[in-house]
Amino acid sequence: MKVSKFGGSSVASAEQLKKVASIIQDDSERKVIVVSAPGKRTSDDVKVTDLLINLGEAYVKGASYESQLELVLDRFRSILSELELTDKVISEIKADFETVISSDYSTPFKLEAIKSIGEDSLAKVLSEYLAKLGLNATYLNPKDAGIILSDEPGSAQILDESFQLLYKLHEREDIVVIPGFFGYTKEGKLVTFSRGGSDITGSIVAAGVKADLYENFTDVDSVYCVNPTIVDNPKEITSLTYKEMRELSYAGFSVFHDEALIPAFKAKIPVCIKNTNNPDGLGTIIVSEKEVRGNPVVGIASDTGFLSLYVSKYLMNRELGFGRRLLHILEDEDISYEHTPSGIDDLSVIIRKSQLPLEKEAKVIERINQELDPDLVYTERDLALIMIVGEDMNSTIGVASKATEAFSRANVNLEMINQGSSEVSLMFGVKEEGVERAVRSLYEAFFVEEE
Ligand code: ASP
Repeated sequence: MKVSKFGGSSVASAEQLKKVASIIQDDSERKVIVVSAPGKRTSDDVKVTDLLINLGEAYVKGASYESQLELVLDRFRSILSELELTDKVISEIKADFETVISSDYSTPFKLEAIKSIGEDSLAKVLSEYLAKLGLNATYLNPKDAGIILSDEPGSAQILDESFQLLYKLHEREDIVVIPGFFGYTKEGKLVTFSRGGSDITGSIVAAGVKADLYENFTDVDSVYCVNPTIVDNPKEITSLTYKEMRELSYAGFSVFHDEALIPAFKAKIPVCIKNTNNPDGLGTIIVSEKEVRGNPVVGIASDTGFLSLYVSKYLMNRELGFGRRLLHILEDEDISYEHTPSGIDDLSVIIRKSQLPLEKEAKVIERINQELDPDLVYTERDLALIMIVGEDMNSTIGVASKATEAFSRANVNLEMINQGSSEVSLMFGVKEEGVERAVRSLYEAFFVEEE
């Protein structure tokens, strides 16, 4: 049995939904289908989920929201008319919306229910369309499927009991179409995952039914070994491990929601990334065991928007609790940190800039000065991180030397080097202005000259 999830661009229009239907028809193992809400049809289009969020905000402000609702309805009307389906779903959206706003839910839960209308309605549309094509397909609400979530609106987590309930889907003969992105609390309140969360639904369902494969259909042929907006036509990754994917998505690979890997990983379900517009392409497969590969590096990721908080104090290594007290100040100020490379008398804390805006920085530095009495403390903003990732790096000699040579060829100064404890990645900190130059040079070194 395969669980197949189709993302926003795959269900953005009637034309895309026809491709989805033919993919489902092509393989009788595709028994459980998970869908997103209609995404963008063109680069300047608006996702249905964003329309719904705007609608919810207008409703909360007491402003008029009718025009926003019309935009949502229009998206569905155009899909329905092109697929020659009745407009039953339109009346259902209107009725659902009325039920939500007249309910006694608190505001956050009303907004959650409004946000979920895109996925919910699309799942109904797709199941109707599949049935019209002669397939035995049924819409299945996440509550009936058994997706039980924690009471955390907008960032809900799966509760363990869901997996057993989901396993019952095995008994079904029909193809079930489940809306992604939301589930229900034990008390029956609708809650959503974080944005992009349909990937998480797909992964949970795949783990629950113990699928042979979790297929994630999107709009790219595969995961590329480097960001294609930095390097033209980069090589495709045909296979990688969960751990490698996790490291890559940490630093900028956004093909797949990072939380979505966990359920599939725990249940050891292979995940395949495929393109709805080119379903015969190989795609990228994510598995638990690495395969033998020629190149120890599978991918290069980079992300900007970091800063380094540098603290130096003579004999820091002998001062008991120095690191803990420094990190405690950050915790106290509600700042989450990423890495802490350290020396004998100094320690840097790498933080996302969004966590430490300038107005907060002055206060943090003042506290460090007062509470830790360092010789020096300052921040360096505009830092980018570059990671080279590959499980085989730990047994290959010369990877770091090749990488540092590539930085030097690109004339980019290294601010920091960190080999993660797992040895799955090597991380470099550079000034943001040099990041693209460095990534291109690393790509040349590991993927072009390698040939
Ligand atoms: N529609 C939701 C979002 O835009 C979830 C998803 O597409 O995965 O975030």
